Amino acid sequence: MTSSANEIVDGHRVWAEIDLDALSHNVDQLMQRVRPGTQVLAVVKADAYGHGAVPVARSLSAHPGLWGFGVGDSNEALELRAAGIDRPILVLGTIIPEEVPQVVSHDVQVCIHSADRIESLEAESLRQGRRTRVHLMADTGMGRLGAQPPRALELARRLAGSPGLELVGLATHVSASRPGHPFTVVQKDRLDRMLAALAAEGIAPPLVHFANTAAILGDVGTGLPLVRPGISLYGVVGAEMASLAPALQPVMSLRTQVVYLKDVPAGTPVGYNGTHVTARPTRIATLPIGYNDGLAYRLSNCGCVLVRGRRAPIVGSISMDYTMIDVGEVPDVGVGDTVTLIGADGDQRITVTELARLAGTIPYEIACSVGKRVRRVYLRPSHRSAPQIAAP
Ligand SMILES: *Cc1c(COP(=O)(O)O)cnc(C)c1O
Repeated sequence: MTSSANEIVDGHRVWAEIDLDALSHNVDQLMQRVRPGTQVLAVVKADAYGHGAVPVARSLSAHPGLWGFGVGDSNEALELRAAGIDRPILVLGTIIPEEVPQVVSHDVQVCIHSADRIESLEAESLRQGRRTRVHLMADTGMGRLGAQPPRALELARRLAGSPGLELVGLATHVSASRPGHPFTVVQKDRLDRMLAALAAEGIAPPLVHFANTAAILGDVGTGLPLVRPGISLYGVVGAEMASLAPALQPVMSLRTQVVYLKDVPAGTPVGYNGTHVTARPTRIATLPIGYNDGLAYRLSNCGCVLVRGRRAPIVGSISMDYTMIDVGEVPDVGVGDTVTLIGADGDQRITVTELARLAGTIPYEIACSVGKRVRRVYLRPSHRSAPQIAAP
């Protein structure tokens, strides 16, 4: 972990350090919880939960336990293909008709939920002279996408006889986001029954998959050929999972620097609408990070940051580009000092989970809202190489 970023990262207003060693360590940790031979379908949708899909996928491609990548739409798949990622890529949700030609031409695998998508994918595959690999998605209790089991069986029969499509997978999505939820076991039973019904008709898709992070940590569906971790790859787990996954390491640190300091008397209003008024003479530092960079507005007047190894409170309303902190209790703060929003500084650490709790949201939203203009800096501490700065 890099606790003092000043020495290695200069010249950014706001940056996210992405620790690729921690990422690969987390895959190792997850692999220890699944049956030998089970592979990882690494979920890199939403720009790898804000971590940068291309560098994350490049880094994970080398991992021996990796099968391929799960994305949210065909543009995310194409971005990986354009970057030279040649592993299997699966669009986890559904595609819309406009996406059909490009998934076929770029060898992107698709989840199937309905007959109309089967028809358009099949026609386009035949037109391009290709075979498209598909995974049938059954709804076992998520109630979002996915075909209900009787309908899913019909779709499976249709796919088994398809000229342009190859049924390579059967999947379902888990509704519970905490490990140990009894409904996850109910969903797994429904999937098992579907598998048995398919097998009775001689249909046996090789890639059966079920487990998201919560199911992996709760050990349900971890004996199937693939597991689909997302948030745990990035070392973010909710409080209720922390004891199950103590060894996961946070991958992202979010940092900025002090750009302005002023000493103010008691009674000074700070920020829009003066929602904070100083109670005593103090020193206010201004940071060039706002809600556009992913610092949740809800943290106004309630979050903390780390500066010089100490906690300093966010004061006033967070604005689009700037945030103020009170550093009256932190000695020797100077303009240019590194400020940590997420991550460690000395022996203090702020986690995504802590921010989510304070902001009244879920860790997923905090992670994937880290803004576009935040520079991602990819670090591989074990290689001791210079940091690689990805395009903004
Ligand atoms: C996002 C997603 C996952 C990953 O879920 P996590 O809770 O982040 O592990 C797995 N499967 C599907 C279908 C998803 O959409």
